[in-house]
Parts: sequence; C-alpha cells; structure tokens
Amino acid sequence: MDRVFYWYMLHYAMISVQNISKKYDEKEVLKGITLEIPKSKTVSLIGPSGCGKSTLLRIIMGLIPRDSGTVLIDGKELKDSNKLELRRRMGYVVQKGGLFPHLTAKENISLVTHYLEWEKAKINSRIEELLRLVRIDPVLLSKKPGNISGGQAQRISLMRALMLDPDIILLDEPLGSIDPLVRHELQSDLKEIFKTLNKTVLLVTHDLGEAAYLGDEIVLMREGEVAQQGAIHQILQNPASEFVQKFVSAQRSPLEGIK
Ligand code: ADP
Ligand code: MG
Repeated sequence: MDRVFYWYMLHYAMISVQNISKKYDEKEVLKGITLEIPKSKTVSLIGPSGCGKSTLLRIIMGLIPRDSGTVLIDGKELKDSNKLELRRRMGYVVQKGGLFPHLTAKENISLVTHYLEWEKAKINSRIEELLRLVRIDPVLLSKKPGNISGGQAQRISLMRALMLDPDIILLDEPLGSIDPLVRHELQSDLKEIFKTLNKTVLLVTHDLGEAAYLGDEIVLMREGEVAQQGAIHQILQNPASEFVQKFVSAQRSPLEGIK
C-alpha cells in the first residue's frame, strides 16, 4: 500500500471536535474543546463530575446545539440539515442506559428500525447476531427493563446502540452503577466487542482503571477543558499539570493501606 495513504488510514479522525464551546445560562460548560478520535480506536473520556463529559457527547450526537466550534463526523461537518443522517452512524448508550421502561427489551432494541421500515426478518436476524455478540439470554428479550438486572440492562442498551451497525459508538458511563463483579465481566466483554467490531469508540467513565483498560487513549477533562490527552503511561509518567497529578493519585489502589 502507498505509504502516505497507509499513514492517512492509521491517523484518520472519525470524530473531530474543534474548539467547541457551550454555555448554560451564564456558565461556560465547555471552553473551546478540541479533540480527535482516530478511526477504529477507543478513547476514554474521564474527569470529575460536572466537567462537561455528557454535554460533549450530546453535542457530538447533534442532540443539543453548540455555541461555537465545529464537529466533523467521518469528515462531514455536523449541521442541522444532516444531523439525523449522521446520528444514524453513531450508536449512543446514554448514562443509566436510558431504556424505555414501558417497552420490552426487544422493543427497545428494535425501536430505531421501525423508522427505517426494516422487515421483520431483517430485524430478527440482526437481533440474533447481537444476542451472541453481547452474550444475552434470548429469554430476556420479552422482559421490561424493570425486570432485568442492571448489567443485563446495559447489555440491552449496547444492543440497541449497535442495531444499525454504526461506525461510531458513544457510551456515557455505561458501567457507572453496576456492581463490581458484574462490572469486571462487562469490562472484558466490552473490550472484546470493541476489538471484534473494529468500531470507533468514545467512552465516558469516572474510573481511571477502566479508562486505561478499555481505551487506547485517555482524554482527561477539567471544568470544560482538556487537561491532558494521551496513553495511560504518558499521563502517569508525565502529568501535564498539578490537577492531572492529583486526579491520578486520588484513584485509590485496592491494595493501598494494606500492610
Ligand atoms: P459530566 O457529564 O462531566 O458530569 P455534564 O456535561 O452533565 O457533566 O454537565 C456539565 C455542567 O453543565 C454541569 O455543571 C451541569 O450542571 C451543567 N448542565 C448540564 N446540562 C444542563 C442543562 N440542561 N441545563 C443547565 N445546566 C446543565
Ligand atoms: Mg455525565
């Protein structure tokens, strides 16, 4: 392959966020955020509660407007006129799963396909595929979110996000409220799924261990700004500021304090 083309493929940004700002009332929630998510890579977005992680994801999805700046999805500028079309290329797992409580798991998963008028057979075969991928018992499909466990609900949310086979997946603290054993298992499964599917993934977490385990790169945010972006070893070895240093050392190791 041509070397220049090869370099380009390796570094091609599937999501490019340029100088995004957003105010709520008078509060600047995002202050000129710039970051790139390379094709087929997983980037973990981490930072203290309220620093603007969810707001950034919603802006990338075109769910809320930005005050200034540009979002490019696979090289196309996100605009009001194309946001619906671009949104279909992104699977989104919202914070707390966001399943509709009055719909069964299957209805939740297939909701989006009704707008696209998929045939029943196509819906069912796609669901079959995804059941194997996310390792879900088919029995759960007829249950409502209130009757399944938190971990299972997150697998269903993931299936819903993957239904249209999007190039990009955005996950907002997908494992935030899951108990530790289930969380550990879901982390390994997510890693495996991301690897198998070769998707471009942006994942929000508040856990540095999870960010490092799942992400090829980490973006650490603070109060609407990027404090540091890099591989975990760069962040640990060369923290860009006192804030980064403090954030890293505040993540307690389980063995700390055991003599
Ligand atoms: P994070 O996901 O990092 O915890 P958010 O993006 O949810 O942070 O929120 C960033 C800031 O914006 C917070 O101060 C939050 O209170 C504020 N905020 C978020 N959504 C709204 C909204 N719809 N209206 C007003 N303020 C909001
Ligand atoms: Mg959030």
